[in-house]
Amino acid sequence: MHIARNWRVKKQRYSLTGEICNHCGSAVFPPRDVCPECAKPAYEPMTLRGLGEVYSFTTIYEAPTGFEAQAPYSLALVRLEEGPMLTAQLTDVDPREVHIGMKVEMVTRKLSQDGDEGLIQYGYKFRPRMMAQAA
Ligand SMILES: [Zn+2]
Repeated sequence: MHIARNWRVKKQRYSLTGEICNHCGSAVFPPRDVCPECAKPAYEPMTLRGLGEVYSFTTIYEAPTGFEAQAPYSLALVRLEEGPMLTAQLTDVDPREVHIGMKVEMVTRKLSQDGDEGLIQYGYKFRPRMMAQAA
């Protein structure tokens, strides 16, 4: 059904909705209805917590058109606690402080705005997870 698919795409922008495979228990993200681990159907929705750590990263100094104001920024491969990996921009962090293994959490941020009254696109980014305050 088209409606169901649109609903899922929309929902995915605001939270990390993935799928859980009932056959092998793998978390699937982004939702693709087929488990990448065992190739069986995976339709059960699952909300991922949005917590993970930096698996690898790269810092962008020469940003593409439209993103200049954000440069330099870091793109990271984030491994979620549930297992799936995803690529996302890091925010609220000095690129020099990014390191592999850094604990991060998902935040929803405005990605771009199409004209004054245009469509505002939101998406997810990751920022360093707030740790207990050092004394
Ligand atoms: Zn599976």
